[in-house]
Amino acid sequence: MKNTGSCLCKQVTFAVDKFQGPVGHCHCKMCQKFHGAAFSTFVEAKTVALHWLSGEELLKEYRANNDTVRTFCRCCGSSLLFESQYNRREHTIEIALAAFDKLEPVHPDAHIYTESKADWFDINDNLPQHRQYRR
Ligand SMILES: [Zn+2]
Ligand SMILES: [Zn+2]
Repeated sequence: MKNTGSCLCKQVTFAVDKFQGPVGHCHCKMCQKFHGAAFSTFVEAKTVALHWLSGEELLKEYRANNDTVRTFCRCCGSSLLFESQYNRREHTIEIALAAFDKLEPVHPDAHIYTESKADWFDINDNLPQHRQYRR
């Protein structure tokens, strides 16, 4: 399998057949809080392209006020999935890029939600920056 990943404690493992759509670095406040980091990077796939290989019973969901759902490992807390109303409509899911152990070449092409970028982080690349979402 080309794209496989796992959580920090390695109990949850998964594979993704095929990615779709652009990959952006998200600087929204919710991603910052959830990841404990300056930004998060998610890759999008059709929901049917994601396969749990182990540990599915350890997955826990957090639904935020804006009706987005974040899925994480309840043992180690690793952020794994993000789902918005847009994703639900399109039958897609966003998967945390950093959780992959084996990955085909992926090239993030933008920064999004830079209006809430952390003051202590400087964007030093030439990728386009969007103050909010790009769609
Ligand atoms: Zn885990
Ligand atoms: Zn975000």
